[in-house]
Amino acid sequence: MEKALKDKIEIVQGDITKMEVDAIVNAANTSLLGGGGVDGAIHRAAGPELLAETRTIGGCPTGEARVTKGYRLPARWVIHTVGPIWSGGYGEEDELLAKCYINSFKAALELGVATVAFPSISTGAYRFPLKRAVNIALRETKFFLQHNQSIKKVMFVCFGGDVYKKYQELSKEIFE
Ligand code: ADP
Repeated sequence: MEKALKDKIEIVQGDITKMEVDAIVNAANTSLLGGGGVDGAIHRAAGPELLAETRTIGGCPTGEARVTKGYRLPARWVIHTVGPIWSGGYGEEDELLAKCYINSFKAALELGVATVAFPSISTGAYRFPLKRAVNIALRETKFFLQHNQSIKKVMFVCFGGDVYKKYQELSKEIFE
């Protein structure tokens, strides 16, 4: 029998660069040349080869995703996606954040991976309201898992305790 959807998601508190999964998602910026927050942590942990590869890509529009290798990371692949900068909800931020998840899953499908880990996209420097962002992350993940069976595990890696609590709370509503 097919595994229950809620058994395919795992919410953990920690550092995404340490995750032993097939692919990790990076909350990048449109340049793809590295930045602060999770993006900086991923570039530091992957090593300079990552920047060398992202330089060849030439950027990524908000809501889209681009794939590189993981280099020195435990993860084989990095799926770089660019979340929207929160500007009060008047700039289609909800739709753009949903597209980040949709396009990251699409990239994961194309890679043929079984396990993928996400950070809480746009909720750091980009200031997207946490509850609103986590709702979008979980609803898009549920929709994807309802329609695709190839991904066996989706991890949400929460850096801070507030983010972890929000994922735990909303996943009960959305997945149970
Ligand atoms: P954005 O610019 O998309 O808002 P940030 O990197 O500023 O991206 O923040 C996104 C989330 O990633 C925040 O919750 C932040 O605390 C978290 N974060 C920062 N470093 C890491 C890390 N090493 N692993 C997982 N999450 C991280």
